[in-house]
Order: sequence, then structure tokens, then C-alpha cells
Amino acid sequence: MTISGLYDLLDVQKIDLDIDRLLDRRKSLPELEEYRETHENLQRLEKELAAASETLRDLELKVDKGEGELSILESKLSETETRLFAGGMSGKETEYMRLEVESLRGQREAMEGRVLALLDELDPAREEVARIQAEIDETRAEHQRLEAVIQEEWRKIDSELARKEEAKKEALQPVPSDLVDLYEELRRNKEGVGIAAFENGVCGGCHMALSPSEREEAFSTDLPRCVHCRRILVA
Ligand SMILES: [Zn+2]
Repeated sequence: MTISGLYDLLDVQKIDLDIDRLLDRRKSLPELEEYRETHENLQRLEKELAAASETLRDLELKVDKGEGELSILESKLSETETRLFAGGMSGKETEYMRLEVESLRGQREAMEGRVLALLDELDPAREEVARIQAEIDETRAEHQRLEAVIQEEWRKIDSELARKEEAKKEALQPVPSDLVDLYEELRRNKEGVGIAAFENGVCGGCHMALSPSEREEAFSTDLPRCVHCRRILVA
């Protein structure tokens, strides 16, 4: 093991920490959380719109049906009235017709009331559909804006990452592969830090001091390791 390999590996470690920071930044952009929220809002609003549209459709069908029934009642009424006013019927028939006209007028009035009540519900139902639709349009625009911001940020981060990966490849070249393996394993188990500088008697990985005898123990081998955290040390 050459000491220069350790210095090269220390450079790799610096680059790896930069890469870790970039990867962390990539997945924790504040816009990502907003994007997820906007996405959920859109889904909720679309359900609301479907429900409100169905309510409106039902109402419109009821109004159509009510108006149809009203028009049938009106023609029946006018037909009966015409026959009644034409006369020429027995007293019993006339009385029957008179009662029929009265009953049809009552039915017409009731049906008019029902249709009017339905018409009163129609405007608020249409407004509700329009309100939700407007909210969907607004939310969708925000969703697209956030998507563009995220893509732009990711583009920048990815090009920086590519630059770092290239630098890492170069820095790794002089480092023996078994040392790289050990370093990678330490990185996996020790919060991304596998090798650290030993300065002023302190391990740069776990920030604990090594006593003179511990220091002697650590540096007695080709591959100095911190006695506390087992990270590779570079004096
Ligand atoms: Zn340590």
C-alpha cells in the first residue's frame, strides 16, 4: 500500500461527499413536495368535478322530464277545456269534464312548482361545476410550473453530477481496487465516510481524539484505521 493511494482516496472521498449532497438535493427539492401536493389536489378536484357534473346532469334530466310532463299536462288541459267549452254534452259528462279540468289545473300547478324548484337548483349546480373547473385549471397551471422548475433544477444537478462522476473516475485510477472495495464498504456502513484525515490527534471521521498509544497502534500498519470508528486514516 502506498501512502499516495490514500491521498488519492481522500480526494475520492471529497468528491463522493459532493455527489451525496447533490443526490440528496435532487430528491429533496422543496418544489417536489409542492408538486406532490398539487398532484393530490388535482386528483381530489377531478373527483369533485365528476361528482358535481353528475349532480348537474341528474338535475338537467329531471328538469327536462318535468318540463315534458308539464307540456303533456298543458295539452291535456287545453284539449279538455276546449271540449268543455264546446258544450253539447250531458250534464253528467259536463260535470265530469269540469272536475277533470280542475284536477288537471291542480296537477299543472304542482308540476310547475316542482319544475321551478328544480330550476332554482340548476344555477348553483352549474356554478359549482364552473368553480371546480376553474380551480382545476389553476392547479394544473401550478402543477406544470412546478414540473418545469423541477426539471430545470434536475438538469443542473445532473450535469454537475456527471462532472463529479468524471472527476471521481480520474481520482480513482491510482487507487488499488482492494482499497476501493474497503472504502466503499466503509462508506455504506458509516454515513458515507470511509476515509478521513487525521489532524491534531483527532479522527476526521468520528471526530474523536486518539491517545498517543492509540495513535501508535493505528499507524503501525500500512493501512491506518481509526481505533474508534475503524475508518481509514490519512495522517
Ligand atoms: Zn474515527
